Amino acid sequence: MADTLHTGKAAAGLARRLSGNHFIGGRLVAAASGETFPVVNPATGLEIGRAANGTGADVNAAVDAAVKAQKEWARMPARARGKLLNECAARLQEQAEEIAQLLALETGKAIRTESRPEAMVVADCFTFYGGLAGELKGETIPFSPTMMTLTQREPIGVVGAILPWNAPLMLMAFKIAPALAAGNAVVVKSAEEAPLAALRIIEIMNQVLPPGVANILSGFGPECGAPLVEHPKVGKITFTGSVETGRHIARAAAEKLIPVTLELGGKSPMIVMDDADLDKAVAGAVAGMRFTRQGQSCTAASRMFVHESIVDAFVDKVAEKVNAMKMGDPLDEATDIGTIISPGQFERVHSYIKMGEQAPGVRIHRLSSVPDDPQFKKGLFVQPVIFTGIANDHRVAREEIFGPVTCVIPFTDYEDVIEQANDSDFGLAATIWTRSLKVAMDATQRLQAGLVQVNQNIVAQPGLSYGGIKQSGLGKEASLEAMLEHFTHKKTIIINLD
Ligand code: ADP
Repeated sequence: MADTLHTGKAAAGLARRLSGNHFIGGRLVAAASGETFPVVNPATGLEIGRAANGTGADVNAAVDAAVKAQKEWARMPARARGKLLNECAARLQEQAEEIAQLLALETGKAIRTESRPEAMVVADCFTFYGGLAGELKGETIPFSPTMMTLTQREPIGVVGAILPWNAPLMLMAFKIAPALAAGNAVVVKSAEEAPLAALRIIEIMNQVLPPGVANILSGFGPECGAPLVEHPKVGKITFTGSVETGRHIARAAAEKLIPVTLELGGKSPMIVMDDADLDKAVAGAVAGMRFTRQGQSCTAASRMFVHESIVDAFVDKVAEKVNAMKMGDPLDEATDIGTIISPGQFERVHSYIKMGEQAPGVRIHRLSSVPDDPQFKKGLFVQPVIFTGIANDHRVAREEIFGPVTCVIPFTDYEDVIEQANDSDFGLAATIWTRSLKVAMDATQRLQAGLVQVNQNIVAQPGLSYGGIKQSGLGKEASLEAMLEHFTHKKTIIINLD
């Protein structure tokens, strides 16, 4: 067993078994069209399986199944639903290793540093929301002594969840765990690059949940995602992805007047003051830039503003740490950094690196090294890059690259650096590194972002509201409030006692 796990053989078998299927109404089903598309291991370029190519007919089948199942699901006592979600969490935890291996196979995310921790977060998120199902409380309002007035939280009905490929499992859990706890049924549309591990999770959940409560489709955006958004019986869309697609979805949702939650990326500033603990800031930069995930993170610290007096030491130390990281086989426990997700994204990252190289006065630090093992000849490995000498108004410092590319920008004046940090279309996350409580507190008040951290840069956590402002999106995920505000309607009830 251990052997097959180490070589990914068990996950490869699982990929084959799941191939060509959605999960609708409690079972694996092929696409109505019978069509499939390849799922490719980005480390080798080899096909590991196929995904069902979903279209409007599959969306209709999944939404019908969800509508049918949702009524009973919503009638179940909230804590009973929560118990079932906790049972899902237990099974997902038991199966976390095979899920992690499958995720590593289809996304190229290294098993030890990325895929396994992500698989564990999924179980944790279901545990968290399972416990919160009993917190779907309303209020009583002293409106009139002769009118008993109260509010109650009701599920929306069927929720459509559209996933990206960068952290597909964690983000799926952030979306569907609160939706289900609140009494909704869900139809997930996985990202075309990462359909199988998400499918396996829904399959495992269906060992516990009534059929039709949790469904998943694979397919492309316009052919499968769009009909899900447009379906008249889908009452809410929760989406993570690009700004452009987010706008498109918001427009389609506006036609139906349904609510949306949009998590759309960022260009997150990290400010390192001259009094910061340099070694902690360096470790934070490496973790915060998500180099282990090839920078494919919405919260990646892709703009590092470092005080001029320490900037050279900072860059040297970050470079030294990233250089010591091993890039290679995503399934190897020794690997720190895996691959970029897809050839299209690989090209895109390179185009930004080229753009940065051409900036006047730029210095480029290329770090770590791509594996020389011939089996990874076609692997989408990119050497992490630190640019210095690129200004905050350059495209490389303004646009989300979603690759292992960061800009280090020196500063001398605090007021100026706050202004530069806020001078961005995005507002998802920000960090400041300082020993001064006064500066830290001031920065937390003034940085324009949904998540501001001082002297650390950790990823979104169950229990803490997560979501951006400006072009980074609408709404929050991962918290109790996210469940209440984004997956329920508040009904007001007035009982005349006269
Ligand atoms: P990326 O370019 O990184 O793949 P996208 O925002 O295009 O980011 O994709 C994120 C998710 O949105 C994917 O699941 C994709 O299939 C889906 N998607 C893309 N276009 C649409 C659309 N028009 N309607 C609904 N979903 C879409």
